[in-house]
Amino acid sequence: MALSNDVVALFYLAAGILVILGLNRLSRPATARQGNYYAITGMVVAISVTLMQQDVTRYGFVIAGIVVGGIIGTLIALKIKMTAVPQLVALLHSFVGLAATLIAVGIFMEKSAAHQLSTVLAVELFIGAVIGAITFSGSLVAFAKLQALMPSKPLRFTGQHWVNLFLGLSLFGLGGYFLLTYSLGALVVIVGIAVLFGVLLIVPIGGPDMPVIVSMLNSYSGWAAAATGFTLGNHLLIMVGALVGFSGAILSYIMCRAMNRTLLNVVLGGFGGNNSSQDVNTTSNDRGFKSAAVEDATFMMENAERVIIVPGYGMAVAQAQQAVKELMEHLEAKGVDVKFAIHPVAGRMPGHMNVLLAEADIPYEKVYEMDVINSEFSQADIALVVGANDVTNPAAKDDESSPIYGMPILDVYKARQTFFIKRSMRPGYSGVDNQLFYRDNCSLIFGDAKDICQKMVSQYAMAA
Ligand code: NDP
Repeated sequence: MALSNDVVALFYLAAGILVILGLNRLSRPATARQGNYYAITGMVVAISVTLMQQDVTRYGFVIAGIVVGGIIGTLIALKIKMTAVPQLVALLHSFVGLAATLIAVGIFMEKSAAHQLSTVLAVELFIGAVIGAITFSGSLVAFAKLQALMPSKPLRFTGQHWVNLFLGLSLFGLGGYFLLTYSLGALVVIVGIAVLFGVLLIVPIGGPDMPVIVSMLNSYSGWAAAATGFTLGNHLLIMVGALVGFSGAILSYIMCRAMNRTLLNVVLGGFGGNNSSQDVNTTSNDRGFKSAAVEDATFMMENAERVIIVPGYGMAVAQAQQAVKELMEHLEAKGVDVKFAIHPVAGRMPGHMNVLLAEADIPYEKVYEMDVINSEFSQADIALVVGANDVTNPAAKDDESSPIYGMPILDVYKARQTFFIKRSMRPGYSGVDNQLFYRDNCSLIFGDAKDICQKMVSQYAMAA
């Protein structure tokens, strides 16, 4: 059944509204699930209506693509670990970029053969191909860094900014040549340079700046989709691409503000593990740190008035959220006031910790953002850090030579006593040694976060 263009436009509008409602609901943990359902419904409407357009005459490839892609997507979704979602997202962004570039080149070849190229179309193709290629290669580098296929620390070389400037200017120069000549060769070289540009833009970024880059690439993938929408004359793709583009840009801005950085600062490089883990091990051996037994921590926590729990990436790795919730319940049963402190870049994706705590049904009103909870650490008897590291490192505040200097942190060091649950003295994502480990009021409890939290829970359960 082929739908008229007016009916298609109406359904596209409905799909767009559903996506906007989805984005709106996704901004709060309590409504995030609902937001997902809105967005899924919007996508189903969009895909179904697109397939019912008059222009679509053959379904073989489309159905094959949906079936094969659907099966691969379902298998990945079922198997993927929560901790690997950020790199999966980066990989998916790269597909959007690749699709935008391939569509731009494909449309160029089709229109060029039919002598239907115009300046406006050529500009659209140029923009689509360039943004797509930068998104493609940049996202692949982000994927490699998050998957630990490449070092997470920034890779820099002398004259890097000049090389980037040269590549940027070459893109504009070649773009002008392409608009004058409609040359396929020029378009291919443009794509090649844009791919290289994408790599060089992301390679020097590392450590705590990665969250900003992941959301920036998310924004690029939206603009790449919008550019494809212009090329294909598809209004829905333009609308949804722009929504993704803007929401990614807003998220990048929010992350930058949370990290006390400007976007230019991030793109030009700054934070980043100059310390290798070798350095860190040496430092750790040279300096004294205290370790504690599980019993010490459980005794002190049950006798405390206020405990603040700080979850981090290690909680996600260990899948300790349920055990953490049970720990909270036992402490509350003993009259302890328990709160959770969330740093904006804790974990490996924005909102990572909120999702995990929500999964364990920890009430939202017990979960506090960094700006709100920081003033409370000085009144807390105990800060229990469950697999977090970088987000608590006081070097960010008082060591100007530290690569993470300037990054806001959770003021865990102000608590009367801190217990750190982690497996070793290894550093966190930024590769920077945590100065807190060597302070008098800090003790490390070595072990897997889930095991340790379960041991704490069973001690309280036995005593009850
Ligand atoms: P970190 O990466 O700083 O530290 C996590 C700690 O968890 C490690 O020190 C590790 O120590 C410990 N750990 C790992 N597995 C376990 C386990 N099974 N049980 C107990 N502990 C474990 O995490 P944070 O959450 O503090 O900070 C996030 C970092 O990631 C920041 O630098 C941030 O910029 C970066 N990042 C954040 C993104 C985001 O969007 N949120 C995206 C990309 C990067 P050990 O090995 O000794 O156990």
